[in-house]
Amino acid sequence: MQIRYNCPSDQCVALIEYEPIETLQKPIQCPRCNLSHDLKISPKIKEGTVDACAVCGCRELFIRKDFPQGVGLAVVIIAGALSIYFFRSNFMVSYAILAAAIAFDFVLYLLTGRVTTCYACRAEYRKVGQNPSHEAFDLATSEKY
Ligand SMILES: [Zn+2]
Ligand SMILES: [Zn+2]
Repeated sequence: MQIRYNCPSDQCVALIEYEPIETLQKPIQCPRCNLSHDLKISPKIKEGTVDACAVCGCRELFIRKDFPQGVGLAVVIIAGALSIYFFRSNFMVSYAILAAAIAFDFVLYLLTGRVTTCYACRAEYRKVGQNPSHEAFDLATSEKY
């Protein structure tokens, strides 16, 4: 399992990546500010699933697709604009563009992995086993933090 999280120090903006955290024994040192800090590796994490965030201990995490969210949005916007552009002259083309955009989105969805993300500190976990209690991002849950 790979973890990526922001350095726990308030003054530091470093993004720390560590893999595999299942076997982590000693504290991690931030490569930027040298802050030495411990991750909480729960028994579940050792087995390859996340039950609680190793950085902040938060038990609420969500799953999102692992690609820049801007990419999917850009495709939708461009396809929408092209589709409107062609709608008057040739609506078969207009529909074909929309269908292609939907297909593209679907393929991206299949090809990209999933990232488990902590609601509280936004730590990201990759290559994790499925935890059925984790769902897609929920705004109401997010607002608690
Ligand atoms: Zn740091
Ligand atoms: Zn966290």
